[in-house]
Amino acid sequence: MAGYQVLARRWRPQRFEDLVGQDVVVRTLRNALTSGQIGHAYLFSGLRGVGKTTVARLLAKALNCDQGPTPEPCGTCVACQDITNGSSMDVLELDAASNRGIDDVRELREVARVLPVRDRYRVFILDEAHQLSKDAFAALLKILEEPPAHVVFILASTEKDKFPATILSRCLQVDFRPIPADLVAARLLDVASAEGFAVSTAASQMLARAGEGSLRDALSLLDRVHAFCGGDVDEDAVAAILGLPPFDVVLTLWHALAAGEVADALAVVEREQHAGRDPVALYEQVVQLLHALLLLSCDADAPSTLPAEQVEGLRTEARRLGTPLLLRLLGLAMEQRNLLAGADHPAIAAAVVVGRLALWPRLVRVEALLTGQATLDESPAAPPTPAQPARRTAGNAPVATQPGPPVTAGASPRERLLAALEEDAPTMAGRVRGASDVVVDGEVLRLRFTGVPAATLKTLRDCLGQVKSAAERAGLPSTIEVEDTAAPANGAPTLRQQVESDEAVRRVLQVFGGRIESAEERS
Ligand SMILES: [Zn+2]
Repeated sequence: MAGYQVLARRWRPQRFEDLVGQDVVVRTLRNALTSGQIGHAYLFSGLRGVGKTTVARLLAKALNCDQGPTPEPCGTCVACQDITNGSSMDVLELDAASNRGIDDVRELREVARVLPVRDRYRVFILDEAHQLSKDAFAALLKILEEPPAHVVFILASTEKDKFPATILSRCLQVDFRPIPADLVAARLLDVASAEGFAVSTAASQMLARAGEGSLRDALSLLDRVHAFCGGDVDEDAVAAILGLPPFDVVLTLWHALAAGEVADALAVVEREQHAGRDPVALYEQVVQLLHALLLLSCDADAPSTLPAEQVEGLRTEARRLGTPLLLRLLGLAMEQRNLLAGADHPAIAAAVVVGRLALWPRLVRVEALLTGQATLDESPAAPPTPAQPARRTAGNAPVATQPGPPVTAGASPRERLLAALEEDAPTMAGRVRGASDVVVDGEVLRLRFTGVPAATLKTLRDCLGQVKSAAERAGLPSTIEVEDTAAPANGAPTLRQQVESDEAVRRVLQVFGGRIESAEERS
């Protein structure tokens, strides 16, 4: 393999039109070259591997080409070829990471003063320029304040926000976008075919997704997978190298999750682990898919992370599930995701988060509970399998259901207690009927009386045995408290009564089984 040149280098674009996914950048620079408006300093910012140094070299060629300055450098003249080979005396590439010191920049100032050896411009390409030291920035600023006419600086950086404002304001800023995955995938197919081997469409898309917007990273991965296969590249080889699940596995897991099938979902995780793949990577892929579905549900363009042939099917599914539900699922998935970061046992952590996510149909919205559209003892609604979507759970603020005694709908505690008393203690039933309120308060059944003579209440307290047994038969707490909630003199309800009679408060108490500790006036 001596002399092997990596694909990313061998297929580095030599003309503006060969550049993938940077149309805005190319157009901006070409227009500047056509109109002769050439700046003395450019800042190329963007992710790694999106073409910053490639464009910097193309710009250097465009400036120094025998035919130039021109938007179409010839690529064949001595100036163009020297730049391609990295041997031009007038185009200097420096890696700021290893040339951070002030001395280098002082040197730069000396060199910048000297006229070009042969070509039109002295072009300085400073890669990773944000890593320059403070002093180096100061020295650079001096040059940029009064730049010699023959000097062009091209600063390339992945971290634009680390530049001093004084430098930024003297640069023409050119932002490089992440390259869409479909363009990266298409480029990978072209490169492979020119290299004499085949790459399956799915494999090219997996590699493009893994490159996360960087063509260089995707090409490096293609190099690795090709070396691993020794021939044609398919998705299994890509999955093996990347430790990534094939997309159909991601889909299988998603459908188990969407259907609320915990066992099925856990089985997918288990299989992936046995296949030697990283279950955390699988979860990440599901999160990505959920995000893609969310975008599709809003009629957004298909995210570049999706295999092209799956887009229409997934769009239909996303619309059926609806944006609110997908938003909620993605929110849950993201919360769970934090458990995976740095987990001691990634496989177990993945099982936990996948299992919890699959339990989503049992999560009920607080709003649905309070408006009576859902109850805590309700059986989980049929989850929106691809065939049968449900929208009931759409919304936010999910509440996990707690196991516990079901809240019996229908008859009130008062009605139930009276019905039980009527059977064998009708006299006592008559007394209890005088209660202003019968309330289940945790383990206590409170009988509240207002304006009832103390003697009547005493009789009631003395004969509580009958009430207790009736309460037990009615399924109510058998600890009975008889309370005298005397109304104030003017007959207006007490604050506590007002609170107790408030419909929203009643609903909260009923749904969550709470009780009112105290009622206080707040200013
Ligand atoms: Zn040329």
